[in-house]
Amino acid sequence: EHAVVVVGAGHAGGTLVGLLRQSGHQGPIVLLGAEEHYPYHRPPLSKKFLGDAVRQLLRPEDFYEDIDVDVRLGVVVDSVDTAARKVVCSDGVVLSYESLVLATGSRPRKLPLPGAELPGVLTLRDLEDAYALRDCLGRADGGLVIVGGGYIGLEVAAEARSHGLPVTVLEREDRVLARVASAEFSALLSTFHRSRGTNIRTAVDVTGFVAGQDGRVGGIELSDGSTIACDAVLVGVGAIPNDELAIDTDIASDGGILVDAAGRTTADHVYAIGDVTRRPTGDGHARFESIPSAVEQARQVAASITGGGASDAEVPWFWSDQFDLKLKIAGRLAGETSAIVRGDPSTNKFAVFHVDRHNKVVAAETANAPAFFMAGKKFITTGAVVDPSLLADETVDLRSCAV
Ligand code: FAD
Repeated sequence: EHAVVVVGAGHAGGTLVGLLRQSGHQGPIVLLGAEEHYPYHRPPLSKKFLGDAVRQLLRPEDFYEDIDVDVRLGVVVDSVDTAARKVVCSDGVVLSYESLVLATGSRPRKLPLPGAELPGVLTLRDLEDAYALRDCLGRADGGLVIVGGGYIGLEVAAEARSHGLPVTVLEREDRVLARVASAEFSALLSTFHRSRGTNIRTAVDVTGFVAGQDGRVGGIELSDGSTIACDAVLVGVGAIPNDELAIDTDIASDGGILVDAAGRTTADHVYAIGDVTRRPTGDGHARFESIPSAVEQARQVAASITGGGASDAEVPWFWSDQFDLKLKIAGRLAGETSAIVRGDPSTNKFAVFHVDRHNKVVAAETANAPAFFMAGKKFITTGAVVDPSLLADETVDLRSCAV
C-alpha cells in the first residue's frame, strides 16, 4: 500500500491530507506535528491576539479521524533516510513511506543582541507565542515596541493600537515593508498607521535590550545611544525555514528546500510544501510565505502523489488586515516598474498597480478594494498591457484599461 508520511501539521500539511483523500488516495496517511495542536490558522495570531478568536482550527478535530488520517501531535521527526525510505520520530517510532512530504514551515529569526533573552522580548509564530504576547500586553501600560516593520509587525501594531496601547515600530530600513511592498504602498500605510497613533521610526538600529526593575525587559537601546522605555517587545524580523531535515540528508536546500512546480524535491519520493520551500518563479526560486502559496503547493503534491494533472501556477498573492484596512497583494515586484494609483488613498480604498516598461501589469497592492485586486490579479495572469492614464482614472471601467 502507498503510505504517505507528512512531516509538519501546519497549514500546508493539514491542507494536504484532506486533499489527498479528496483526490482518491486510499493508502495510509500519517500526519506528524511538533506542536500539541491540530492544524490551525496562523493569520489571527497577529491580528486577533487580544480578542477571543485567536484559536481557529483549520478543520474540526474529528475531521482527520473521519477521513482516516493518523494524526500524531507533539512528535518531532528527527531524521530522514531517503535510501531506506524511513523517518525517525522523537518518540522512537520509525515510519516507512512511499511518499514523504516535508511541511515543516519556518521559525522567527532572532536578534543576536544583548538582552534578547529577557522576559518580555517576544517573537510570534505559534499559538503559545500569541498567548504570551497577550499576557505581556496585559501589563504593558508603558508600551509595546515592535522591532521590524514587516507585515506581522504592522498587524500586531494595529491590534495593540486598536486596544489603546502605546506602540512604537522600529525599522532599520528607511521605510516599513521595505522588502515586501513598493515605496508608494509603504508610504500610504505608514501615513495610515501614524494617523492611528502608532509611532513609526525608520532608519534606526537596535543595539540591545535592557532590563527594568522587575528583571523583565524595560527598554530598548538604539545605536545613537538613546533608550526607549517599554514593557514588551515584539521582534518581527523575518522567518528562517525549518529545512534541517533536508540539509541533514541529500535533499537540496538553498535558504529553503528547492522544489519544482509539482512540489518535488531533489530526492525521489520526497516532496516539500509551504514556508519551508523555495519554489519556481519563472526566473529562479523564491520563498512565498503565505497561505495561498501553501495551499497551492498542497494541491500540486496531492496531484503528484495521486497521479492527477497539475493545474497552472497561480499568480502569487496574500492578504493582511491592519485596523479596518483589508489589504490584498498580487504579483511580484522585480526590476524597474512604475506605480499607478487608482482611487483616493484618503478614502482608504485604493490600489497601487505596478507596470513594467511595456505597461504590462506585474503587481497590484490594494486596500479595501476587492474589485481592483481581482482585476489586477487577472491583468498579471493574462500578461495584460494597460493604458496607465486609464488605469489611474477611477471613472474608467477596469476592463477597458487593457489595450
Ligand atoms: P506552519 O503553518 O508553520 O506549519 C509547520 C509545522 O511544522 C509547525 O507546526 C511546526 O511545529 C511543525 N514542524 C517543524 N519541524 C518539525 C519536525 N521536524 N517534526 C514535526 N513537526 C515539525 N499568510 C497569509 O497569506 N496571510 C496572512 O495574513 C498571514 N498572517 C500570518 C500571521 C502570522 C503571525 C504568521 C506567523 C504567519 C502568517 N501568514 C500569513 C503566513 C502563513 O501562516 C504561513 O505561510 C503558513 O502557515 C505556512 O504553512 P506551513 O504549513 O508551511 O508552515
